[in-house]
Amino acid sequence: MLLIEHATVLTLDHERRILRDGSILVEGHDIVQVGRAGDVRPPRAPDRVLDGRARLVAPGFVDTHVHLSEHLNRGLMLDDVPVDRYLPDWLLPLYAVMTSEEEALAALLACIEMIRTGTTTFCEAGTLFDVATVADAVETIGMRAVLGRWTWDLVRGPGRLTQTTEEGLRRNEAMLAEVHGRADGRIGAWPLLIGFGTCSERLIRGAKALADRHGTGWGMMHFASHPSRKTADTVPLATLDALGVLAPTTKLAHMVYVDDDDIALLARRGVKISHCPTAGLKHVKGLAAHGRFPEMLERGVCVSLGGDSGNGSNHFDMLRIVSLVATIYKDARLDVGVLPAERALEMATIRGAEALGLETRIGSIEPGKRADLVLYDLDTPEWRPLLNPVNNLVYAATGASVRTVLVDGRIILDEGRLVTMDERALLTRVEARAREHIARAGLPIESRWPVV
Ligand SMILES: [Zn+2]
Repeated sequence: MLLIEHATVLTLDHERRILRDGSILVEGHDIVQVGRAGDVRPPRAPDRVLDGRARLVAPGFVDTHVHLSEHLNRGLMLDDVPVDRYLPDWLLPLYAVMTSEEEALAALLACIEMIRTGTTTFCEAGTLFDVATVADAVETIGMRAVLGRWTWDLVRGPGRLTQTTEEGLRRNEAMLAEVHGRADGRIGAWPLLIGFGTCSERLIRGAKALADRHGTGWGMMHFASHPSRKTADTVPLATLDALGVLAPTTKLAHMVYVDDDDIALLARRGVKISHCPTAGLKHVKGLAAHGRFPEMLERGVCVSLGGDSGNGSNHFDMLRIVSLVATIYKDARLDVGVLPAERALEMATIRGAEALGLETRIGSIEPGKRADLVLYDLDTPEWRPLLNPVNNLVYAATGASVRTVLVDGRIILDEGRLVTMDERALLTRVEARAREHIARAGLPIESRWPVV
């Protein structure tokens, strides 16, 4: 039993209560009491008490679109690589030679970055090959996750990057059997397809049917994402609807190019969206001019947030993503009323939980939910004065103030120290293996400025 007492608590509960002097009691995996400090009464002496007087406690962030493997070559691509050359010239050669050990290493690096910036749950973008080994890594480090494997059938690539429809479905079925529900349900697996244009209609229907049979969600990871009509993922949403695959268990990532009819359809079908603003801007997807995410939210569509990739946004820091999504559409519409800080924070927490079908378990601080909690250090300049905690968190806070993180009731970051693994040793291994991996792919590590 663990007690956090006398803290500022952003509950994100139904009333969105903010407790100025609040306590949270955790028993096993779960939050069992939340309230004013005087009202929370442990039935026996807690095993540990965390003094919350200089702490703000918020629900852990949920990042709904991350490419774990790309963290091993983060920052490799220079800014002016044309968008349509990412995949053939850079990513496919890298994915083609990545070993299981390297996938796990990249996953651990990505997880540590997320933990240290307040994210406790993520959904992979469906670009893993050895999902079971990555699940081992995620289980060890202690995060909550939904994982998925590289699945397409219309594109030929080197080696394992080519697969038939049957192979894609069979491998997903095996992955669901092996991975879904691991670590007391902390790790899930979904069929996650690369995108429209790379996947046949039979594969898309098959993935949805597989998800239905196993009681999971499924996702299309790149849809309506780019202005170029030459990219095949920019097709009318009605085309997907005609396949009968749009449902509350469907998650679509990016979704920049939608019209009013599409938004109405998304709302009607209960489809979940993963919006990736940092990567969207860097990859010139036209977010400010074309993105309709505020309108989706107004119409009741569940819009969550994603960090995307090591060469897209280059980071998985949800605090930077949240502050961006709370500002970009204000400026684009010349309207300060668009997408307030509170709504941005919902996108990173409770909406993220909904997008992964986990809203009854995580996304807010309420009795009966799993204890996925982040404690921020209020004794830092960015948090003072603490006049409006939501504004501080969305616009001012950085990952540097994340002090303690619990996932499933277990402390995995304890006063700034990662307790589940030797972080320094991991970073040393990453530095060496990244260079080996990139060399094996035959790609250059370039710099525009002289490296002396
Ligand atoms: Zn992506």
